[in-house]
Amino acid sequence: MLKVIDSAVPVACWSCSIGHNDFTLFCPHCSKIQPPPGGDYFSVFGLEPRLNLDLAALEHEFHRLSRKLHPDRFARAQENEREWSLADTALLNDAYRTLKEPLRRTEYLLKLLGAEIGSDAGTEQGGHDKKDLSRVPADLLEEVFELNMQLEEMRMARKLGETDPELQVSLERAKRKFDVLLSEVDQDLRSQWQVWDEGDAAVRKTAQKLMVALLDRRRYLSNLVRDVTETLGA
Ligand SMILES: [Zn+2]
Repeated sequence: MLKVIDSAVPVACWSCSIGHNDFTLFCPHCSKIQPPPGGDYFSVFGLEPRLNLDLAALEHEFHRLSRKLHPDRFARAQENEREWSLADTALLNDAYRTLKEPLRRTEYLLKLLGAEIGSDAGTEQGGHDKKDLSRVPADLLEEVFELNMQLEEMRMARKLGETDPELQVSLERAKRKFDVLLSEVDQDLRSQWQVWDEGDAAVRKTAQKLMVALLDRRRYLSNLVRDVTETLGA
């Protein structure tokens, strides 16, 4: 379980023995490298959890910390410090990769707050279980049903070496429509970032629920678009 925000645990620096919170990669008192801290990815960069991030500042801080952690700088340090420079670098890289990408960042924050995301989607079913209509967003039920029949028809036609221009056009139209729906989801997500960043606890809770639902919808739509693209390109 990831640690939640505000639970700064004071630890004593191994080198100078002065206490500091366990979020930091370097002791604020003696500047010595510390073992991988126990905070979340945001705290690695000294940030409060937020969904709108200044990406230029994040990148700048990433490079600054990467340089400070570079193993070459620890070539003559104690073995502990050499190991920590590697472990801290790995942590920093994971944190940066996660936070710089908007969807990963959103999923990460929601998971940090205890949300379960995509537990029944993607990997387990391989995203290919098109017969499972229980997960279809209610407003898309009819279209998805229709789309799946057309996809089936198209695959059959391909198998028989036939072409069906009308079906092709219809599938291309469906793909465009789902692409539009996807970009609408992205816009909705972005506005929820704002709401979450600025909201109090109750507002944030509501925004979190909405974002979990939006991410589910997004995953579903991406799978559809991928299926159509694959079938059209086959
Ligand atoms: Zn220290």
